Amino acid sequence: MPELPEVETVKRILDPLIMGRTIISVEVDPDFPGVLCGPDGVDASRTLPGLSLQRVSRRGKYLIVGLSDLWHLIVHLRMTGRLLVVDHDTPAVRFEHLRMALDDGNDIRFADQRKFGRVELATIEDVKALDRRLGVEPLTHGLSPYRLQELFRGRKAPVKSAMLNQHLIAGLGNIYVDEALFRAGIHPLTPAGDLNLIQITALVEAIQYVLKLAIRNQGTTFANFENPYGEAGGNKSYLRVYGKGRRGEPCPRCGAELERLVIGGRGTVYCPLCQPQEV
Ligand SMILES: [Zn+2]
Repeated sequence: MPELPEVETVKRILDPLIMGRTIISVEVDPDFPGVLCGPDGVDASRTLPGLSLQRVSRRGKYLIVGLSDLWHLIVHLRMTGRLLVVDHDTPAVRFEHLRMALDDGNDIRFADQRKFGRVELATIEDVKALDRRLGVEPLTHGLSPYRLQELFRGRKAPVKSAMLNQHLIAGLGNIYVDEALFRAGIHPLTPAGDLNLIQITALVEAIQYVLKLAIRNQGTTFANFENPYGEAGGNKSYLRVYGKGRRGEPCPRCGAELERLVIGGRGTVYCPLCQPQEV
């Protein structure tokens, strides 16, 4: 599922491809009209044609495309959403639900196997509300050890769950939480509020390291993540624990057998020796 590095990858490719273009027409899959939504009383598919595309930005796992006339598009890929830029004559891609034709002969296509993703026509107030709802951006100075300590203070929830909470830190999902906890040597069940400042400092470093590495590798593709060119990301081979632990794989650091746990409904892989549970 796309997390911060995958959405950042889409943003970096999409921005120069579509910036300054104008939307000519919009086609929505009649079997899935809910893929495109907008404010109450506004028909997004009628409003979009004629608007031009401005800067593409990212907040957490959301893409935000600035449009003319003070509109925005908020795109959430969720589980299996893909945003592609293809020539207008390209046949429908697999699971395509939305097509926006641009004035340079290309289309933006939104495809989504599981249909949890959304493209939302939004006002600046909607964008501000999204910004307020989301926690700190982990690759900004907003995520300092002191800030994270403050966010985790008094929390009894496992650190794994606290890291997945988008109201605290925006953009982390299962892959990068497991990778960051492994790098920081922290057991995923440790209550977030019990971490000391040394652990918190290691965790901030680890979060930023795993995210930057994944962005450099254009994201992790497990099942279906693709960038706007339809290419897979290259980060999978750099993962140290995520996706392992089912067949007794060894810890890449100490060789002990990796273990699996379910925390808050999410499969979690960790090394019992490198990430000891403190008692
Ligand atoms: Zn280990």
